[in-house]
Amino acid sequence: MRFKNKVVVVTGAGSGIGRAIALAFAKEGASVVIASHHSDGKKVEQEIVKAGGKALFVQADVSGSASVRSMVDGVIKKFKRVDFLVNNAGILLHGDAVSTSEADWNRVLDVNLKGMFLCAKYVVPCMKSGAIVNISSEWGLSGGRDVLAYCASKGGVVNLTRAMALDYARKGIRVNAVCPGLINTKMLTGFFSKKELREIGQMVPMRRIGEPEEIARVILFLCSDDASYVTGAVLSVDGGDMAGTY
Ligand code: NAD
Repeated sequence: MRFKNKVVVVTGAGSGIGRAIALAFAKEGASVVIASHHSDGKKVEQEIVKAGGKALFVQADVSGSASVRSMVDGVIKKFKRVDFLVNNAGILLHGDAVSTSEADWNRVLDVNLKGMFLCAKYVVPCMKSGAIVNISSEWGLSGGRDVLAYCASKGGVVNLTRAMALDYARKGIRVNAVCPGLINTKMLTGFFSKKELREIGQMVPMRRIGEPEEIARVILFLCSDDASYVTGAVLSVDGGDMAGTY
């Protein structure tokens, strides 16, 4: 029970990687806030409570400051504190510079980058110490074809993380980024068939795509005392994808 009496806010925790992070924290004794704009967060709350854990689903759109403020107010009312923030909510829209509409550009940047700024803006004042983990992507470290806005947003998350790490180091808040590779969630399965996913997996050095739980375990490490001297780090969790050409 590494996180007994601790409170974690996980954005976008109704599905995929966020859900796995929420369940993993709950297993380790944390009270988990499932902040999602989608009602699927309610199911994750019920799953945790049924297993004997503590959870609160708060419907919130991370791209809106009023929504984030009211989510944080709700958390403080219920749990009185926040120890960890996992900025996980994200969206992926396709398009290059020509085909991406201005509205799509704004939406992706608003959710993926501004959302992390807003959550930090309202959560950090409630933290006495602890840790923040921002979910970037391997497309935050290298380019991808036809995902222009997503790449720009995830690259921004990497340097947002470094800046926040410096800003809060003296407050005892560590801030790190995780860059997942190809992970088995609806963000991928929405675009590729099972056969295509198997083929894509063969291109990864470890010859498979990753599972959400493999990202969750790294997030828990970064929030734990085992990572007490780790801040400003950008950690790839991608089966070797970013290690070099293969
Ligand atoms: P997912 O679609 O299952 O999860 C994204 C979650 O974000 C969803 O629950 C969604 O409801 C929530 N969300 C979207 N917009 C929101 C908003 N405005 N406010 C609050 N919540 C919102 O996909 P996932 O793969 O679990 O993605 C989680 C994170 O991991 C994302 O930031 C994504 O960019 C990143 N990532 C995923 C992969 C992958 O291969 N799956 C790879 C690299 C990075």
